[in-house]
Amino acid sequence: MIPLSEPFLSGREWEYVKDCFDTGWVSSVGSYVNRFEELTAQRAGVRHAVATTCGTAALHVSLLVAGVQADDEVLISTLTFIAPANAIRYIGAWPVFVDAEPAYWQMDVARVRQFLEEGCERRADGVYNRTTGRRVAAVLPVHILGHPVDLAVLMEVARAWDLPVIEDATESLGSTYRGAPTGSLADIGCFSFNGNKILTTGGGGMVVTDRPDWAERVRYLTTQAKLDALESVHGEVGFNYRMTNIQAAMGCAQLEQLDEAVEARRGHAAFYRKALQSLEGASIVPEADWAVSNCWLSTVLLPDRFGLSERKTILTALAAVGVQTRPLWQPLHRSPAYPQAAVLGGAVADDLQARAISLPSSRGLSPVQRERVAAEFLKACASC
Ligand SMILES: *Cc1c(COP(=O)(O)O)cnc(C)c1O
Repeated sequence: MIPLSEPFLSGREWEYVKDCFDTGWVSSVGSYVNRFEELTAQRAGVRHAVATTCGTAALHVSLLVAGVQADDEVLISTLTFIAPANAIRYIGAWPVFVDAEPAYWQMDVARVRQFLEEGCERRADGVYNRTTGRRVAAVLPVHILGHPVDLAVLMEVARAWDLPVIEDATESLGSTYRGAPTGSLADIGCFSFNGNKILTTGGGGMVVTDRPDWAERVRYLTTQAKLDALESVHGEVGFNYRMTNIQAAMGCAQLEQLDEAVEARRGHAAFYRKALQSLEGASIVPEADWAVSNCWLSTVLLPDRFGLSERKTILTALAAVGVQTRPLWQPLHRSPAYPQAAVLGGAVADDLQARAISLPSSRGLSPVQRERVAAEFLKACASC
C-alpha cells in the first residue's frame, strides 16, 4: 500500500528518545521540551513557543488567551479539518463558517470583510453580530493543505475591527507568506505534530506568539493554572496540556529535517502537476506568487465534468490497487456536528469538496511509487 502521508524518522529521533530513557526525563518537564520550544520559535520567526499535547489543545488555549468567551462568535474557514471548530465549541463559543476562495482554496477574506461591514456593529465592549446579538470575538484562518491564507489582507480587516487573529498553521509548518513563516503573522499561531503532518512527535502541538504575556498565560493554562513553583496553588480551572520530553525529543530530531521534508513534498507536487497534465481540465492546487507552500498534501481538482460519483469511483479504484487517497473534509457548514451553524457563502467549498482528491505525499514516497500513483490515477479517471 502507498500511504497518503506517513512519518519519516530518518534522523536522530531514536538517539534523542533513548537519551530521555537513559536519563529518566520522560515526562512533561525536561531539556528537550525547552529545546523544542526554542527551535520551533526560531523556525517560526517568533519570540515565544509553548509545546502542547496536540494541535487541538494548542488551538483551545490560544482562543482562551485571545479572549474568546462562551457565547461569542469566531469566524473560521468552513473547508478545514474539524479540530479548530471543535476548539471554539470547547469554550462554548460559536463558529461562523466562511467559504473558501476558488483560487487557492483558503478562507475568503472578502467575505469576512463583507460580514463585518454589512452584518456587524461596533459597541463599547466589542463588535456585535446584528442578526444573532452575539459578540464577534476573533478570526481563525486555517492554512489548508499547507498553502497560506492571504494574511496581510485578513490582518488589515481584523485590525480595522480590533479583532484578534489566531492562525491555524497546523498543516503549514515550513510554508511562508510574503517571506514570513506561517504561524508568525497574526497574534498567535498553532502547529500540530500529529502522525500525518509534515513533521511528527507521535502526537503534539505548539503555540507560538510574539506576545510575552500571552505566551506566559498559555504556559500557565496548559499546566493546570499552577500559580507557584513550590506551593500547590491553582489560580483557576486549567488544563493538563503539556507535551512530554519524549515527544519533544522526537520533535527536535524532526525539526532538524524540516527543509528536506518541505523539499520532498514540493517535489511531489511538481511531479504530479506535470504527470497529470494529460487529464484535460484537471489541476493541482496552485501556489500564489506571494506564497511558498510546504505542499503538505498534493491535491488534484478533477475536471468540472466530474462530480461526487466520479470522485467516489476514483477513490474506490485507487484503494483497490493499494493507493491511499482522500477526499477533502466535508465543509463544516454541512457537518452533522454543526447542525445550526451560520455560514457566509459555502458554494465554493462544496464544489471543491465534490471534486478534490489528495494524493500520496509522504516525504519518503519514491519516484517509482509516485509514477505508479499517477498512472493508476489516470487509469481510474479514464474509466469514469
Ligand atoms: C491536524 C490539524 C489540527 C490539530 O490536530 P491534532 O491532531 O490535535 O494535533 C488542527 N487543525 C487542522 C486544520 C489540522 O489539520
